[in-house]
Amino acid sequence: MAKRKSGLSLPIQILIGLVIGILVGYFLQSSPEVADKYIKPFGTIFLNLIKLVIVPLVFSSLLVGVVDLEDVTKIGKIGLKTMVYFLVTTAIAILIGLTLGNLLNVGGGFVIPTGDITYEAAQAPSFIDTMVGIIPSNPLNSVVQGQMLQIIVFALILGAGLLAVGEKGRPVFNVFNGLAEAMYAITAGIMRLAPIGVFGLITPVIANNGPGVLLPLSRAIFVVYLGCFLHAAIVYSSTVKFLGKMSLKKFYKAAFAPWAMAFTTSSSSGTLPITLETAEKELGVSKSVASFVLPLGATINMDGTALYQGVGALFIAQVYGIDLTFAQQLTIVLTATLASIGTAGVPGAGMIMLAMVLQGVGLPVEGIALIAGVDRIFDMARTSINVLGDLACAVVVSRSEGELAEEPYVVEEDLQTE
Ligand code: ASP
Repeated sequence: MAKRKSGLSLPIQILIGLVIGILVGYFLQSSPEVADKYIKPFGTIFLNLIKLVIVPLVFSSLLVGVVDLEDVTKIGKIGLKTMVYFLVTTAIAILIGLTLGNLLNVGGGFVIPTGDITYEAAQAPSFIDTMVGIIPSNPLNSVVQGQMLQIIVFALILGAGLLAVGEKGRPVFNVFNGLAEAMYAITAGIMRLAPIGVFGLITPVIANNGPGVLLPLSRAIFVVYLGCFLHAAIVYSSTVKFLGKMSLKKFYKAAFAPWAMAFTTSSSSGTLPITLETAEKELGVSKSVASFVLPLGATINMDGTALYQGVGALFIAQVYGIDLTFAQQLTIVLTATLASIGTAGVPGAGMIMLAMVLQGVGLPVEGIALIAGVDRIFDMARTSINVLGDLACAVVVSRSEGELAEEPYVVEEDLQTE
């Protein structure tokens, strides 16, 4: 457990950082440049520290996870369960988003701003290109460029290779096992800075996007936040409780730290180190399941993003006065599922991939300009749900494998500091 010497647990400290950040941001709205210049750097430094561990952490933990599974059929079994959970929950998320968007008339009441907002539509890659692109031809290049999907594929392949050669592969396994452990320790150290980091990240967001900017889009924001809340309350709560057989109090209490990180950083990849730590140390998910499910989930499982893309497409259609047929809405379910898989776990990526969904149903891609200004506000909600979904999946899969510890694993208390 993360008891601090100061007496306040880390999640409470993070919460305090979050609240103070929101208050300071609120008061700095008239001069957001102050927040950008003097407070944001603390957030950026924190984010860079987190980013520094991502590539080595994902690679080593996934590799170790695969080798720990000990046989290739088990990888297939866990992989299948994980993919089914990911896909089904993602599709449900979009259905929730579309249902709420239709019921609450998400685009209603929006007046198209006459300002000069323009948006350059990025060309979304096709599905086939995405599939071809995930096989790395040069794995070191993938590592250097931080191509997460390619890194994951290489870790899976190398892990399977190490399993195939058995004892001869031990030394290589030991190196990566050591690397993974070191990354966990470094993460624990970085997390001590989280309260300051969270403060530095949230303050400029609030200062730059004060209530005034949010007003015209308040209905869309409300729908996305409500949808995310319902998705967690219905889908994650029921699967964690009935399939994972875990008390919801335990789940949500442990999930607070990753949630706060996701909310403030808007990056599932950036949150991954904390998600991994929480799953193993607080929720009792076995190491092999956690290190398989979570890096994969941080890269491809984006329920919040999919929900947002569904609502976003509906919003743009309504604002432009286009009536979507039932078949078109089904197409949205399909394309948003694929788009969310292709979305990188970094801030703003979901909005870029919204272009793919809009193109799929022939909606004007320029419509993205309407929401681009406040995308960060959407991003905070969808990233939180993305991360929560990964954790819920890890609990469910771990339980189904009979590998969920009733009591959280006992951990050697982090580095003794003075
Ligand atoms: N920021 C999201 C994430 O990292 C992706 C998105 O933009 O939807 O999970």
